[in-house]
Amino acid sequence: RKEVGHISVGSKGFNDLIAGGIETQAITEVFGEFGSGKSQISHELAVTVQLPVEQGGLDGECVFVDTENTFRPERIEQIANAFELPVDEVLQKIHVARAFNSAHQILMVDKINELIQSGTNVRLVIVDSLMAHFRAEYVGRESLAVRQQKLNQHLHSLQQIANTYNVAVFLTNQVQAKPDSFFGSPTKAIGGHVLGHASTYRIWLKKGLAGKRIARLVDSPHLPEGECVFKITSEGIVD
Ligand code: ADP
Repeated sequence: RKEVGHISVGSKGFNDLIAGGIETQAITEVFGEFGSGKSQISHELAVTVQLPVEQGGLDGECVFVDTENTFRPERIEQIANAFELPVDEVLQKIHVARAFNSAHQILMVDKINELIQSGTNVRLVIVDSLMAHFRAEYVGRESLAVRQQKLNQHLHSLQQIANTYNVAVFLTNQVQAKPDSFFGSPTKAIGGHVLGHASTYRIWLKKGLAGKRIARLVDSPHLPEGECVFKITSEGIVD
C-alpha cells in the first residue's frame, strides 16, 4: 500500500484541522451555502498539489471536473503568483473537464483513468460541484432512488481512482443555509446518506464576520471534530 499524501489548503489552521491537508486515497467533501468558499478552495488545491512535498504539495497534476462553469484561469494565475510558480506551467497541469450533464460527469471518470494510465501524474481530482447536475436532472420523489444509485456508482468509481492511484478526491456540495433545521448537526439536513458514507472527510463551510470563513470538520472517522477560521484573499486561502 502506498503512503498517504497530503495537499495543503493554504491556511495553517485549516491544515491542522485536517491533519496536514486533504488526503490521498480518500474523498474529502466540502459543503456549504453559495459563496462559502467551496470553489475558492478548489482553485487553491489545484495549485498547491503542484508544490513540492516540503511545501505542502505532491509535485502532481490535477483534474478539475467543472460542472457549473466555475473554473477561472485568472484565479489560478493569482494563486500561482502568490506561490511564485510559473503561471503557464501551473495551468498546463490543471486538466479542466467540463461536464455538461450527470451522464457526462460519470463518463469523465473513465477519461481520468485513461489520463492517469497514459502517464500523467494526477494526484488530485476535484469535482466542483458533485451534485448540481444530479439535482437538476433527478427531480421529484420518484426519481430519488435512481439518483442515489447513480451517485453511489459515481462516488464508488472516484474512490477507486483515489485508492488505485494514490489520488486525493475533493468534492464540493452546495447546500442551503438553514441553521434552524440543523439542530447542531448539519449532516442530517444535507446530501442524504450517499455522501455521508462515501466521503472520508466532510467539511462544513460557513460565512463568518468581516469576510472570514469557518471550516468545521464533521463526522470524521479518525480525527476529532473541530473548527478553524480562514480567509479568502486575492492570494488565495490564508489563516
Ligand atoms: P462557493 O462556495 O459558492 O463555491 P466561492 O468559493 O466561489 O463560493 O467563494 C466566493 C467568495 O470568495 C466571494 O464571495 C469572495 O468573498 C471570495 N473571493 C473570490 N475571489 C476572491 C479574490 N480574488 N479575492 C478575495 N476574495 C475572493
